[in-house]
Amino acid sequence: MALFPCSVHGSRFRGPASHFYVFVSRDDSTTRSHVRLCMQDAAGMAELLDEQFAEVSSDETVPYPEIDSCLGCHMPIEDRHGVVIVTGYVKGADKKQWMAVLHSHCGLPSWLASVHERGLQAA
Ligand SMILES: [Zn+2]
Ligand SMILES: [Zn+2]
Repeated sequence: MALFPCSVHGSRFRGPASHFYVFVSRDDSTTRSHVRLCMQDAAGMAELLDEQFAEVSSDETVPYPEIDSCLGCHMPIEDRHGVVIVTGYVKGADKKQWMAVLHSHCGLPSWLASVHERGLQAA
């Protein structure tokens, strides 16, 4: 049994944990969370990240991806914005990193906001 509850379904689980580190940088604040997920929710999370975020190359000489729409409202985004970076260690897979940008007044999508919130408390 895992020591910590899954940040998505909220209770302890059997099998290995996968770890995601969420970094949200805004004009006035930076928050970081450590999200622990069961295998099933980790797969779901990686799928949502693949869909809605841009993947950051593991090759450090490759610049960050150019992103021109907001993760929160999907509208075009101008120069000044917040950044969300998620680093994922899914059990059995290579480390992967994703990035998105946000207007300063836009919130995280609900699927990410709830786990980020839980991860803050457990960080
Ligand atoms: Zn779970
Ligand atoms: Zn927005």
